[in-house]
Amino acid sequence: MISKVFERCPLVNKLCAMCGTSNYNITNQSYQKEPIQYCGAVTSGMNKIQSLEKCWLEMNGYEKRKHKKRHY
Ligand SMILES: [Zn+2]
Repeated sequence: MISKVFERCPLVNKLCAMCGTSNYNITNQSYQKEPIQYCGAVTSGMNKIQSLEKCWLEMNGYEKRKHKKRHY
């Protein structure tokens, strides 16, 4: 569902292998005109960057599990 990956991650302000954009909005499960940035897409599903405190690559296992519980 992610159309592009390896984009600049606003959370770390550098290119991030986990970041990508998609027109798919995971919250209401539909496509929209404006692309949304996600991070961590490859390994863990789609996490909206706006709801992440940290880049997925910089989170440890505990932080990832915690984020998955409140979702998106
Ligand atoms: Zn990232």
